[in-house]
Amino acid sequence: MNLKARNDATPSLRIIPREQHVISRKNISKAALRVLYRLNEAGYTAYLVGGAVRDLLLGGHPKDFDVATSATPEEVKKLFRNCRLIGRRFRLAHVVYGQEIIEVATFRGTGEEDGDGDRHIVDGRIVRDNVWGTIEEDAIRRDFRVNALYYDISDFSVRDYVGGMQDVENRVLHLIGDPATRYREDPVRMLRAARLAAKLNFRIDAAAAAPFEELGPLLLDAAPARLFDESLKMFLGGHGLKSFHMLEQCGLLKFLLPATARALKRGDKALRGLIEQGLANTDARVAEGKSVTPAFLFAVLLWGEVRDLAHAWMVKGVEDSVAWTRAATHVVAEQCQRVAIPRRFTITMEEIWSLQPRFEQVQRKRVFRLMAHPRFRAAFDFLLLRAAESPAIHELGEWWAHAQQLPHETLAAALSGSGAVPEAPVATTASTAPRKRRRRRKPNGKSGAA
Ligand code: ATP
Ligand code: MG
Repeated sequence: MNLKARNDATPSLRIIPREQHVISRKNISKAALRVLYRLNEAGYTAYLVGGAVRDLLLGGHPKDFDVATSATPEEVKKLFRNCRLIGRRFRLAHVVYGQEIIEVATFRGTGEEDGDGDRHIVDGRIVRDNVWGTIEEDAIRRDFRVNALYYDISDFSVRDYVGGMQDVENRVLHLIGDPATRYREDPVRMLRAARLAAKLNFRIDAAAAAPFEELGPLLLDAAPARLFDESLKMFLGGHGLKSFHMLEQCGLLKFLLPATARALKRGDKALRGLIEQGLANTDARVAEGKSVTPAFLFAVLLWGEVRDLAHAWMVKGVEDSVAWTRAATHVVAEQCQRVAIPRRFTITMEEIWSLQPRFEQVQRKRVFRLMAHPRFRAAFDFLLLRAAESPAIHELGEWWAHAQQLPHETLAAALSGSGAVPEAPVATTASTAPRKRRRRRKPNGKSGAA
């Protein structure tokens, strides 16, 4: 593919001098500055590029700093002792300073795949991209215009080859070149459009959004491991709720989370509430610097389908615990074909789900056994989210919250009917059991006793 076919934009350089933009060295990590200066001193050109420049222009604090340079990976390695070369599909140098990694990429060119470089294109998809080139070529092979801005440490200017600065000002995402071609090269760019629009509060330009419907199915062939990484960026990056809404708006949710899309389509308002609250809580935790886990996130996103499948099997007479296990296994297996959720997380997801019916069993022994379960905390947080499902679940959540506050002896006495009885949960309408088979249970486990 030649440069013209690939991109309709012919790069023309606009240099924005220091006094006309807001980027200050103060906000750039020391490690990134060292890499830039060292490369410059060694006679190479080197710029800060991509998300970091974009976020700095928007007044944000980038988490990672990427550098683009004329030096090849081997030349970068010679300059830095703390450097390792990574990637096959896309070769890069990582310069490591303690916890921080600066990603240093050589300018990518637009050479032919059968030229002397190393680019492979299969069915329009770029599967390998190791052709070195000029900065102009590097700029136009990036995805969005706002992601193709270069900060020059030698004079503190910003170099703009494709109109990215204008887009930052207008808060819009334009793809560089022909959108359909760029999505065919790499369908994950569609998800990146949705994610960046959510994160930056930008709109997606109409031409960039138009191909979603036709080309969305290409995501079905994207590498599941990459979709897992992208999912974490979307949902655990602090803008999960907005990313979710944006995926729905763009019509892309069904390709990433088919079970979630199906369950929501059945018109379940409570499920929507649960997912939105789960994502909002996750965003709040990220904002507070607290830890978040993919297991809880995917447990939230897939709950509706697990619950509905389990119910369907129970109604058919399958034993409760078997129905739950089977539903969980089924939903996880389907999801992992799209998004490679590592096993350690799917195990926790299945535990969170399988503990849900156990919150309805409030006999003394079972209560203490559940509280001692290593996944109790996560499963309890999940129960609280489910409060939106029914008033009964809400009450159940309150009962368990209260029970955890009580000293062991008080709770034990209450559960065996001899102490001050905590407010009893009305487990009868809690909806982990399908309607037909609902049983009445009292807190002391003795049927009919108060
Ligand atoms: P984030 O805020 O999530 O870090 P980002 O734009 O920096 O967003 P990265 O994945 O860190 O995203 O990528 C760094 C840069 O590499 C991007 O800004 C863009 O210029 C380029 N890039 C990343 N992914 C692609 C892609 N799929 N196609 C083309 N260019 C890409
Ligand atoms: Mg980045």
